[in-house]
Amino acid sequence: MRQLTQTGWMHNRVRMICASFLVKDLLIDWRRGERFFRHHLVDADIAQNAGNWQWIAGTGPDAAPYFRVFNPTGQGQKFDPDGDYVRRWVPELASLPATIIHQPSAADPGQLVASGVILGETYPTPIVDHTRARERALESYKHALA
Ligand SMILES: Cc1cc2nc3c(=O)[nH]c(=O)nc-3n(C[C@H](O)[C@H](O)[C@H](O)COP(=O)(O)OP(=O)(O)OC[C@H]3O[C@@H](n4cnc5c(N)ncnc54)[C@H](O)[C@@H]3O)c2cc1C
Repeated sequence: MRQLTQTGWMHNRVRMICASFLVKDLLIDWRRGERFFRHHLVDADIAQNAGNWQWIAGTGPDAAPYFRVFNPTGQGQKFDPDGDYVRRWVPELASLPATIIHQPSAADPGQLVASGVILGETYPTPIVDHTRARERALESYKHALA
């Protein structure tokens, strides 16, 4: 969100991860995300923005299967293996090694202290547990589609 609000642009991969997190981890209506992106994107396009949000949300004409839930940590580890993207936009975590930078809450407390990261103070604790949020999303979709 910092890259989006500061530059008006994000790579497609990051747009997909953010959209999946909002809609499936937080169960927030895709239209709120679509509106926020439309307000900030330099390439904002009504059709492409709404079409891509609905693809992620599983509500559009060419939707991704609803059970496809992006794992933010796994995506970070796969597409930003060295953690440079995180260091660029989340300087609070810049001193963390690549092994823990995508999920500081799962790291050994000693490693965090050694890097000056204090969860809940210098960096927030997670707002959702992704595994539980994913299960909740799948249950919600199944219920809505029943
Ligand atoms: C949630 C979400 C919202 C998006 N909102 C927009 C938007 O408002 N405007 C927009 O132009 N794109 C949108 N996209 C599509 C895509 O992210 C951007 O087109 C692309 O990231 C722009 O960067 P680029 O020009 O370097 O793309 P490149 O990867 O270089 O692609 C070149 C061009 O191809 C087209 N393109 C590439 N990927 C897509 C795609 N998934 N869907 C449609 N067209 C694509 C675009 O016109 C893009 O400029 C969105 C994607 C997601 C997941």
